[in-house]
Amino acid sequence: MTKKNKEFVIKVLCANCGTILYKYKKEGAGFLVKCYVDGILKDYTRKDLKCPKCNQQFARLARYHNRPAHKIIHGKVIVKGHCGQ
Ligand SMILES: [Zn+2]
Repeated sequence: MTKKNKEFVIKVLCANCGTILYKYKKEGAGFLVKCYVDGILKDYTRKDLKCPKCNQQFARLARYHNRPAHKIIHGKVIVKGHCGQ
């Protein structure tokens, strides 16, 4: 019953043109700083960390707690869905 880490399904969109990039299962509330690769439910990109429509780079490859992740570049994405508010 006690669920410490709440999960939210959010949509990550390109801040430049509004194209959807990921459907992502976010762990916990708060600002989106990174996307764990294994939390990405649906990937709409060409897996090059760029918007498929306007080619803006929105993330960099990183690793957190030994899990591959995409570190979001600040201001390059818009998040829709549950985001902790
Ligand atoms: Zn775009």
